[in-house]
Amino acid sequence: MNVYDSSRMTDVLAPLGYEPVDSPRGADMVILNTCHIREKASEKVFSELGRLRAFKQEREAEGGDMVLAVAGCVAQAEGEEILRRAPQVDLVFGPQTYHRLPEMVARALRSADGGGQLDIDFPVESKFDHLPEEMAAPGAAAFLSVQEGCDKFCSFCVVPYTRGAEFSRPVASVLAEARRLVEAGVQEITLLGQNVNAYHGEAETGGTPGGTWGLGRLLRALAEIEGITRLRYTTSHPRDMDDDLIAAHAEEPKLMPYLHLPVQSGSDRILAAMNRQHTADDYLRIVERLRRALPDIALSSDFIVGFPGESDADFAETLRLVTEVGYAQAYSFKYSPRPGTPAAVADEQLPEAVKAERLAGLQQLLGAQAAAFNQACVGRTLPVLLERAGRKPGQLVGRSPYMQSVHVPVPEGTQQRLIGSLFDVAIEAAYDHSLGGRLLVDDAPQHSTRARISA
Ligand code: SAH
Ligand code: SF4
Repeated sequence: MNVYDSSRMTDVLAPLGYEPVDSPRGADMVILNTCHIREKASEKVFSELGRLRAFKQEREAEGGDMVLAVAGCVAQAEGEEILRRAPQVDLVFGPQTYHRLPEMVARALRSADGGGQLDIDFPVESKFDHLPEEMAAPGAAAFLSVQEGCDKFCSFCVVPYTRGAEFSRPVASVLAEARRLVEAGVQEITLLGQNVNAYHGEAETGGTPGGTWGLGRLLRALAEIEGITRLRYTTSHPRDMDDDLIAAHAEEPKLMPYLHLPVQSGSDRILAAMNRQHTADDYLRIVERLRRALPDIALSSDFIVGFPGESDADFAETLRLVTEVGYAQAYSFKYSPRPGTPAAVADEQLPEAVKAERLAGLQQLLGAQAAAFNQACVGRTLPVLLERAGRKPGQLVGRSPYMQSVHVPVPEGTQQRLIGSLFDVAIEAAYDHSLGGRLLVDDAPQHSTRARISA
């Protein structure tokens, strides 16, 4: 979501003459878009600000100026502290006010030494109604934010405080942005939301109210847009995985056979303490329904280890759930106490060493599952949307339907032409985090959007 927000900030600033550059050196403005989800991400902000101060001073010594801004959820949660601890910062604004950047920047430029400005409102107006229609060239695959904020208040999580209450963009606004993306050359769209499957956007047909749509219905409508060949969505909450959305996986071939569905823990006791409002068995039943709808669906999840009070037996339940589900991919984290959240003040905080040991154990299991999943793709043909140049010369990288990165060598001089196309690729090698393959160039570019792993 921060990637999406950053690109929209670029769009807001484009009419003022700003364009993205690769390095902070010599830039007229630097915006640090920040994440507050874990302490590590949040602490990075202050060390980055120290580094950026040097660039700002360098620029000033040359007689120039650099506006230094902090955006995102650390700005939202710790705005005043940032201004106090980092006087070199000119602007601090949260995730819901960046549509006001032009006014903020104008004020910052007027008041050269007037101290930093803070804008961390949760405005009544939605930023989506004030963002420009013009967008920077997005590439073949793009994000589209449809839902923000969260009302679930899991006991470990800062999102409800930093991103605010749950909000769904109206259907018409989502469809219009999708059409603009397609016109700009996008063929794969990933719908974004902190709880994207809680989406309930207002619809209207021919000017009359049409009730609210869930995510399944929205995906089906997007699938009708010609030019879109692949749809994804992230991040989902198990409680919002409704029948219509599950059915959409069975019925809509443009919806990719991959789902990120975080479970956090396999222990009912810990799930209750986390206020997740579902049990491990509820989650397993959802997985079962998804697999009945689409047998080859690949699953991914988030896990937290070392939540306050987590015993060895609780952790063993997490390992058991992982073994039972079998993930293609996953993210796992040590529990990080976040200021203002209930779990941060809970008794029985676990020592770092216990968290580290459990994380290593879990990652070993998840890593083995991911490796096995990738290995099972060797020998198959998968459609790959080529998105960018790879690290090695003559190599392109794209994504399989299952979100794996796939590297393919391409003939010299064809790279630029091939980027943005969907090709069948014969998968020949599996690595920990990616696949290698060969373009089946004899075939014309095709738009089959789903290949099945039949193993
Ligand atoms: N809305 C999504 C998750 C959003 S936050 C959901 O409910 O599943 C992304 C991930 O960060 C979470 O799934 C969780 O695994 C991790 N996370 C959030 N807060 C955390 C914390 N305090 N410590 C460690 N990991 C955390
Ligand atoms: Fe955070 Fe997700 Fe829980 Fe909301 S549902 S509080 S975003 S972990």
